[in-house]
Amino acid sequence: MSEFQDSKRLFERANAVVPGGVNSPVRAFKAVGGTPAFIASAKGPYLTDVDGNEYVDLVCSWGPMILGHAHPAVVEAVREAAGRGTSYGAPTPGEVELAEEIVARTPVEKVRLVNSGTEATMSAIRLARGYTRRARIVKFAGCYHGHVDSLLAAAGSGVATLALPDTPGVTGATTADTIVLPYNDVIAVEEAFAEFGHEIACVITEAVPCNMGVVPPLPEFNRLLKSLCERNGALLVMDEVLTGFRASASGWYGIERVEGDLMTFGKVMGGGLPAAAFGGRAEIMDHLAPAGPVYQAGTLSGNPLATAAGLATLRNATPEVYTAIGRSASVISEAASAALEKEGVPHSLQVAGNLFSVFFRGGAVGDFQTAQQQNVKAYAAFFHAALERGVYLPPSAFEAWFLSSAHDDAALERVLEALPHAARAAAAASG
Ligand SMILES: *Cc1c(COP(=O)(O)O)cnc(C)c1O
Repeated sequence: MSEFQDSKRLFERANAVVPGGVNSPVRAFKAVGGTPAFIASAKGPYLTDVDGNEYVDLVCSWGPMILGHAHPAVVEAVREAAGRGTSYGAPTPGEVELAEEIVARTPVEKVRLVNSGTEATMSAIRLARGYTRRARIVKFAGCYHGHVDSLLAAAGSGVATLALPDTPGVTGATTADTIVLPYNDVIAVEEAFAEFGHEIACVITEAVPCNMGVVPPLPEFNRLLKSLCERNGALLVMDEVLTGFRASASGWYGIERVEGDLMTFGKVMGGGLPAAAFGGRAEIMDHLAPAGPVYQAGTLSGNPLATAAGLATLRNATPEVYTAIGRSASVISEAASAALEKEGVPHSLQVAGNLFSVFFRGGAVGDFQTAQQQNVKAYAAFFHAALERGVYLPPSAFEAWFLSSAHDDAALERVLEALPHAARAAAAASG
């Protein structure tokens, strides 16, 4: 493996003109230290950086690349679409087809296409408020829904804590109507509804939280949210931006049939281009402009390149794709756990369908508070030892690991070879 000379040079140049040198914070390797590898190209399960190092990619662009990188059908669809022009600001057949694909796979009756998961959740919240004519929203600590102002609040524990913003720039007034509750805490949710029930527009939750590491919902948790919302005239916003079309062809809904009144999608449905969506029952969705009064718009929404990539991805996401990912996920996750076990590194493998992450702490993790108590130093050592051996893990201990149907035996084998070394490095760092 060669040195990161070109990555280092690029990172210096980037730092001069881009805050922190990156366009999304976790890419900067801050949580694990070192210089981020700048990627030159990718193919199948592999990334190649500008220094010529090749990695098995276990990030997959944080979820979208379910078919692997540069899948021929996706590349061809984008190439073809680009030849017909890149944006018109007028309706296109691709938008209709992508909306139909989403409606066919999920319980939603109508969808609006947007450009990012952030836009999807932001718009879903606005619609929920406009539809119910209520202000308050409930979210869970550790659930990430993009960088929407009113959702950038995670603090608080126990009962119905009124949220404080997580970041400068988000005002107290913006989060004043956000109620943050501990994840999987049934009593906290019941108490919040007992106190604020008639003021709550919606509860937003990740179908399976994957952005604090994978924290499966307790068996009846999502169902309870649904019934509490129903009884109190609030909407359930099921955020499937990450799980949608990844956990199964129908997302997490294909595994646990709890229907969000509104649902948000992103990542896989854009096939690696910027596309996302929110949807729900027609009766709710028709409150959106121009059918209804709730305003929502976008110059590039339903972009023809993005819809082409999304359609090609969804249409090639056959049952075999999900079988392959499920199998690879169990091979890799069990091997990681075994390697850490062998070196005596406290850890907890958490699995929800084909989604998984490894927490660097002993014992099950059911909420954000527990998720935060990880040995991040041990993870950093684990990460760098894996990188050194050609395996690109998420550069943070608080993220899921992602696979694609392109992760064949050769790619998996390389990961299996790297894991014992990574575990040894983690053991040395925790000692
Ligand atoms: C990634 C993600 C988002 C935000 O999507 P962006 O496209 O990054 O804005 C929202 N919700 C969940 C659950 C996500 O994983």
